[in-house]
Amino acid sequence: MKYPHLFAPLDLGVVRLRNRIVMGSMHTGLEDRARDFPKLAAYFAERARGGVGLIITGGIAPNAAGWIGPFAGKLSSRREVARHRRVTEAVHAEGAHICMQILHAGRYGYHPLIVAPSALKAPINHFTPRELSRRGIERHIADFARCAALAREAGYDGVEIMGSEGYLLNQFVSPRTNRREDEWGGSQENRNRFPVEIVRRVRETVGPDFIIVYRISGLDLVSGGNVFEETAGLLRQLEHAGVTLFDTGIGWHEARVPTIAGMVPRAGFSWVTARIKSATRLPVIATNRINDPAVAERLLREGTADLVSMARPLLADAEFASKAASGREDEINTCIACNQACLDRIFSGKRATCLVNPRAARETELIVHTAPARKRIGIVGAGPAGLACAITAAERGHAVTVFEEEQEIGGQFRYAREVPGKDEFRETLRYFATRLEKLGVDVRLRTRATAEAILDGGFDEVVLAAGVRPRVPEIPGIEHPKVLWYPDVLCGRRQAGERVAIVGAGGIGFDVATYLTVSRPPDETAAVHEFCAEWGIDTQLRAPGGLLESARRTPGNTTRRKIYLLQRKVSRPGASLGRTTGWAHRMALQARGVEMRSGISYQRIDDSGLHIRGPHGPELLDVDTVIICAGQESRTELLRDLPSTVRVRLIGGALLAAELDAERAIREGTELAAQL
Ligand code: NAP
Ligand code: SF4
Repeated sequence: MKYPHLFAPLDLGVVRLRNRIVMGSMHTGLEDRARDFPKLAAYFAERARGGVGLIITGGIAPNAAGWIGPFAGKLSSRREVARHRRVTEAVHAEGAHICMQILHAGRYGYHPLIVAPSALKAPINHFTPRELSRRGIERHIADFARCAALAREAGYDGVEIMGSEGYLLNQFVSPRTNRREDEWGGSQENRNRFPVEIVRRVRETVGPDFIIVYRISGLDLVSGGNVFEETAGLLRQLEHAGVTLFDTGIGWHEARVPTIAGMVPRAGFSWVTARIKSATRLPVIATNRINDPAVAERLLREGTADLVSMARPLLADAEFASKAASGREDEINTCIACNQACLDRIFSGKRATCLVNPRAARETELIVHTAPARKRIGIVGAGPAGLACAITAAERGHAVTVFEEEQEIGGQFRYAREVPGKDEFRETLRYFATRLEKLGVDVRLRTRATAEAILDGGFDEVVLAAGVRPRVPEIPGIEHPKVLWYPDVLCGRRQAGERVAIVGAGGIGFDVATYLTVSRPPDETAAVHEFCAEWGIDTQLRAPGGLLESARRTPGNTTRRKIYLLQRKVSRPGASLGRTTGWAHRMALQARGVEMRSGISYQRIDDSGLHIRGPHGPELLDVDTVIICAGQESRTELLRDLPSTVRVRLIGGALLAAELDAERAIREGTELAAQL
C-alpha cells in the first residue's frame, strides 16, 4: 500500500471512518431546491462509491436569516427532512459517512434578511445586516440545535458547524465584526460565547453518538482579525463544549489574499493546521490546495493532520480515493485549482461543475453509456476538446483515432502549464495521456489531418477540434522583429527583452505578464515561503488576522522587467478573468510593477517601440519587445477541403474562438462523445 496513512481507518468513537479522505464542504447549488436533491444524492453517491471516507455537504442554513442567498438550502422544519434522507441513504449504501454542514452566512448573506453581531456591512456585500438582539441570539442558538437534530433525523452521521471564512460564528468571534457591549461582545470570552454555546446546545440536543465537526478559522487574513492565541483559547472551549473533530478554515471571503487559487502552493496552509493540531487533542482536518494523494499522505505521515479534506479534487474525480488505493493515481483527473467551473459559477448564481470533469454535479444528466454499436471516430486536434471527446468516445467502446500536427498533445494547455501558478495544467495532460494509452486510442502525433487522410480513414464520425490560432491584429509594423507571439514566448522558443508591451489584457495577456515577472520557486517549501512573503502572511500567527500590514506586498517581480499590459476597451484590465481569481491576478501583477493601460489604440510598431494613443494623447512606449495576445481565430480550413458529403462535427475553439475557454472545450468534447 503506497498510502498507508491515507487509507488507515479512523475510529471517532461515534463511527469508524474507512479512511482519512474527507470530501470537504462545497456548495454546488443543488442544495437550494427540493427538486434537485435526487441529483445531489447521485452526486454524493458517486463520490462515496469512489471510496471517500467522510463527506461534508455544502452549507445548509439553520434558518432563513442564515441563507447565503434568497431561498438557499435550509433545514429548519420536519418538512425538509425527507429530501435530505435521500442523500444520506445514497451515501450510506456506498459505505461512506456523511455530515451536513450548518452554515449561517451572517453579514455575507446576499439578501435583505441578514443579521450579524453588529450592524456592519461586509465590503463584499450590498446588504447591511441587522444587529441581533439578545433574544435573537438565543433564538439562533435554538435554531442551530434544531437544525442539528433534524440532520440527525435525516440520517446524517453528524454536522459540521461552519465557524470560519468570515460567516456568522466567525463574525461573533472577531473584534473586526463584533462591536457589542453586552455579554456577547467585548472580551474574548464574550465573543467566543456564541459559537461555544451553539456547540454546547447542539451536543445536548443530539446526544453523544453524533459527530460534531467545527470548522475553525486558523487564519483570518483580514485586518483586525484574531491572533492564534485567541484561536487556541476558542479551541479549548469548543473541545470542552462537545466537538468531535476540528476542520481548518483559512481566510475570510472578504480577504484580499488568495487561499485556494492555483497561485497558492500545494498544501500551502497546512502549517496552520499543524498549529491547530498543537492546540487540541482532538483530530484535525487539513484543507486548501491538497489535490494529490502523495501530498495528503505526507501531511498525515508528518503528523500535520489526522484527516485531509479535498472538495474540488473530488469534483474533478469522484474516484480519487479508489484510484489512489489501487495504485492508479496516474489516472486521477486532478483538480487544477482554476475555480472556473466551480466557484466562479456558484458566485454567479449558477450550478457548480468542474472544468476537467463536466459530469460533476450532472451525474444524472451527462451519462456516458456503452455505445450500442462500435463506430470508427476520427478526431482532428489533441487540445482539451479533442482529448475529452477521444477518451469519452473510447470509454463508450468506439475505435478512436486522433490526429495532431504538433509533437505532443495538449493544445492551449501546453502554454498554460508554463505559467507560474498554472503548473497543475500538467496534471490534466498527464491524465489525458494515461487515459488515451489505457483506452487504446490511436494518437497520431506530428500528423496533419488532410482531407485524404480523413477520407482514407473510413470514419463513421469526424470531429473537428483543431482549436485556434492567435489573431493577427492590424497594427502597422506587426512584422517588426520585436513582435513575438504568445505561444513562442510561453514555450520558450523566443525570449522577451527587458521592456515589454503586451497587446491584449485578456486571460492570456495576464498569463504572459505573470510568466515574465515570476520565476518558479525551487521546491514546495520555498514556494510556500515565497507565497506567504509576497502576500504578507504572518507565519508566526501573532499579527491580528495573520496579516503583516507593514511587510505586505513586497513586489514579487523576480525578473525586474518593465511590462505594459494594454487593451483598447476602457474597462478594467482583466475584467474577463474569473470572478474568484481575477482580483488576485490583478493585485499580484500590480505588486510586481506591471503597468496596465485601458482605452488605448495602437498606432504602429517600429525600432523606437510601440506608438499608442491613450486618453491623454499619443505616447511612445519605449519597448524592445511587443507580445501579441490579441485573442484567437478558429482553425477550420479542413472544412474547405472535405467534400460536403462528409459530416463534420465542430467543438471547442474550432467551433467558436471568441470566449474560448477550456471549460467549454472539455464540456463540448464530452457531451458530443456521450451522444456518438
Ligand atoms: P481574450 O480573453 O478574449 O482577450 C483577448 C484580448 O485581446 C482582449 O484584451 C482584447 O482587448 C484584445 N484584442 C482583441 N482583438 C484585438 C485586436 N484586433 N487588436 C488588438 N487587441 C485585440 O482572449 P485570450 O486572452 O486569448 O484568452 C482566450 C480564452 O482563454 C479566454 O476565454 C480566456 O478567458 C481564457 N483564459 C482564461 C484564463 C484565466 O485565467 N481564467 C487564462 C488564460 C486564458 P481589446 O479588444 O480591449 O483590446
Ligand atoms: Fe478544480 Fe477547476 Fe474543477 Fe473547480 S473547476 S474543481 S478548481 S479543476
